[in-house]
Amino acid sequence: MTQSTGHAQKVSLTGIKPTGTRVSIEEGGSVHLGNYLGAIRPALALADRYRCVYFIADYHALTSQRDPDALRENVRDVAATWLACGLDPDKMLLFRQSSVIEVFELTWIFACIVATGQLERGHAYKDALDRGEAPNAGIFNYPLLMAADIILYDSDVVPVGPDQRQHLELARDIATRMNHLYGEGTVVVPEAVIAEAPTVPGFDGRKMSKSYGNTIPLFLPHKALRSAIMKVKSDSSAMEAPKEPEGALVYELFKLVANADQQAELAKKLRAGNYGWGHAKQELFEVLEGQLAPLRERYQALRANPKEIDGVLEAGADRARMVARRTLSRVRRAVGIE
Ligand code: AMP
Repeated sequence: MTQSTGHAQKVSLTGIKPTGTRVSIEEGGSVHLGNYLGAIRPALALADRYRCVYFIADYHALTSQRDPDALRENVRDVAATWLACGLDPDKMLLFRQSSVIEVFELTWIFACIVATGQLERGHAYKDALDRGEAPNAGIFNYPLLMAADIILYDSDVVPVGPDQRQHLELARDIATRMNHLYGEGTVVVPEAVIAEAPTVPGFDGRKMSKSYGNTIPLFLPHKALRSAIMKVKSDSSAMEAPKEPEGALVYELFKLVANADQQAELAKKLRAGNYGWGHAKQELFEVLEGQLAPLRERYQALRANPKEIDGVLEAGADRARMVARRTLSRVRRAVGIE
């Protein structure tokens, strides 16, 4: 449903979670190769088909983040990361969630039409209870804020992984209910699109994840990146032996970054023998370094200039606020506040 946006191209919305950890630029930033290949790159590729809106979900982070300096730094770090990875702030919208406080007015309006039972069934809330925790009201209400994030910007589609489907269902329910109660066209009903994204293995073969300690930070300097790639697990077959690339970790990682010709070439060399896993890792390193070096340079330049990042985020927030106010004014009139 695009009637209220007035644009031919649909709007896609992506929320970016600040990572929650302290960031060391020298150690490659807060984002790892799995985040890049599995989340950032696919999310930026959506710009071919949609008008893309990206927001940094700092108020969502506050449900668990208790370190103000880390939060501030994380926000800048993810902004620098996405900009370095190709987010073009002239063509796409990038801003901090907290800069558009209109989202809380919409959250309240939604709170007044959602049954508490629906929130009690929320995954994040139930998981916290199952772990024996006493979840705060932020975790309980999180799906309402997420629905407001989505609906405030007239989002037509939201790319989601399987774990976020439920929240999006709630946003759809809310939007449908708003239109039923207050008239069709009051808000845009968002649709889920299942994000096509690979799962990236870490250097030990398990899913790359900070909790497994097997990550390759995205912006590792040249030498450190090479050392990280050399740690990728391989079997101990002799250099002379022919090797099967399919299923081998080095080759699986290579396939995620190299083009078809490069893949065919490497597979041929491995199968022919007299070519060790160490050679293949060097090849993987070179392809990665070729792609990541310019990104790393942009990232480091941005991190050295926080004012530039803040300026981009503020300019994005100004534009986002215009969309938000338009939606909110429609909703306020519909519910009888204005
Ligand atoms: P996290 O830091 O785990 O919350 O992940 C942030 C984003 O990166 C999410 O969209 C994840 O789906 C994605 N992601 C994290 N680890 C991987 C991985 N190993 N492979 C692919 N995507 C990943």
